[in-house]
Amino acid sequence: MFTCKKTYRDIAFAHRQHLHVGHCSLIHGHNWGISLTFACRGLDSNGFVVDFGELKYLKLWIDEHLDHACLFNQDDPYVEALLEQYNGLFKAYLLPNCSCEGIAQHLHGIFDPMVRERTSGRAWITNIEIMEDSKNSATFQPQK
Ligand SMILES: [Zn+2]
Repeated sequence: MFTCKKTYRDIAFAHRQHLHVGHCSLIHGHNWGISLTFACRGLDSNGFVVDFGELKYLKLWIDEHLDHACLFNQDDPYVEALLEQYNGLFKAYLLPNCSCEGIAQHLHGIFDPMVRERTSGRAWITNIEIMEDSKNSATFQPQK
């Protein structure tokens, strides 16, 4: 099996973890990093796992949904009221769990099918690392 890795850095977005007993329950931002590890058994005609020049669809998705967004857990009790009262003041993105771990798992569920489709099933995403700053990160790697 071959792997290669693409990293997107300095993506500004905010999140709030409403169940956290500490300051993570407050809306706060990071300059995030997203590292995607691609895998395949057979290389493409260029000898690549994936062509880095053809990954713009992933960057576009990140820009559209995450860049300058505010991420909330879907079960955040304040999210509905916030969206209603401050409509237009921020770009909200809801997911089951907006921790680093939860974002990594969520993005795997979105990006892995996109990569499989674009490569006709030849390549997939084996690992996603989410870096919330230069010190802290978490990785999601699906069970085999
Ligand atoms: Zn945080």
